[in-house]
Amino acid sequence: MKIMFYNTKPYDRYWFEPMAKDYGFEVHFVEMQCDEETLFLAKGYDAICIFVNDYVDAAMTELLYEMGVKAILLRCAGYNNVDIKAAEGKIHILRVPNYSPEAVAEFSMALLLTVNRFTHRAYARTRDYNMNINGFMGTDLFKKTAGVVGTGKIGQAMIRILKGFQMKIVAYDPYPNPALDVTYVSLEELMKQSDIISLHCPLTDDTRHLVNQKTIGLMKKGVYLVNTSRGALIDTEALIDGLLEKKFAGVGLDVYEEEEGVFYEDRSNEIIKDENLVRLTSFPNVLITSHMGFFTKEATRAIAQITLENAYALEMGNPLVNEVLPDRD
Ligand code: NAD
Repeated sequence: MKIMFYNTKPYDRYWFEPMAKDYGFEVHFVEMQCDEETLFLAKGYDAICIFVNDYVDAAMTELLYEMGVKAILLRCAGYNNVDIKAAEGKIHILRVPNYSPEAVAEFSMALLLTVNRFTHRAYARTRDYNMNINGFMGTDLFKKTAGVVGTGKIGQAMIRILKGFQMKIVAYDPYPNPALDVTYVSLEELMKQSDIISLHCPLTDDTRHLVNQKTIGLMKKGVYLVNTSRGALIDTEALIDGLLEKKFAGVGLDVYEEEEGVFYEDRSNEIIKDENLVRLTSFPNVLITSHMGFFTKEATRAIAQITLENAYALEMGNPLVNEVLPDRD
């Protein structure tokens, strides 16, 4: 099998290159994002492998089909960036549904602890021998209420961590899990009751802008918000308004609505045109990271392994256990 890897960085080769060799796959890595302009590179390949900020819309799916590409291998869990309906019956879409929920949950907690206790800013101060702690007063998490939106794999890992801090957990999920020792409430109740809110649901038509002017209005003053799921779960403009109104004590974002083309790249010498992103980075109580919740040795190894297993299953005609289909998802 010949696979074209789009949007790659040196760390992508770390696991994929040796593992692909073991499978006997011919792989080619390019740095370019997968989009209309770079799609032609897929000609002559059996599959393309893409990441969170690549996209394949209906027209691109048709072109891939004409080129003879048989599969889109998503080296991630989310699949909001591909047109599943357009691909049905033409191109297989295979993803990595489960690699290390702990990696993302632990990172969510890291964001929460950092924005709460300002360790990132303290680091900068002490390196400059400014040992003043003004402005760094945080909040105990002990016995506070944490609201978890989405109690799938990552949400559950997050709940385990939050319970370690002896927090009370309320959760919202349209498909509650009766095996979980949490109190399920409506989304509105979760917004009202929570001292911290952590988002762990996928981006769908139902969840787009789940955090908006109305839901922010329901939140407690001094709430903490963490999003490691997908940027568009939050209406950025409403978030900025909430920050200006001092609604939030702290906000940790590993994802951002308009992250495509900015995240994962070094834009330090450029003029940033996205005014919302510039505004967000200006708040002292907002921490933005570049979609790196998944970035541990264990998670990246599992991503490479499962992505290549998906390709191997396709090559061998085995059941495609990780296929994304419109009627199933
Ligand atoms: P999962 O499928 O195991 O769980 C998602 C949960 O969300 C399910 O329980 C589902 O019922 C629930 N859900 C669906 N619609 C909902 C709604 N309207 N409101 C509330 N909950 C809803 O997925 P997961 O593995 O836990 O991953 C969650 C998300 O995390 C992914 O969709 C992806 O966007 C994101 N993610 C981010 C990173 C990162 O590096 N930051 C890495 C992996 C995954």
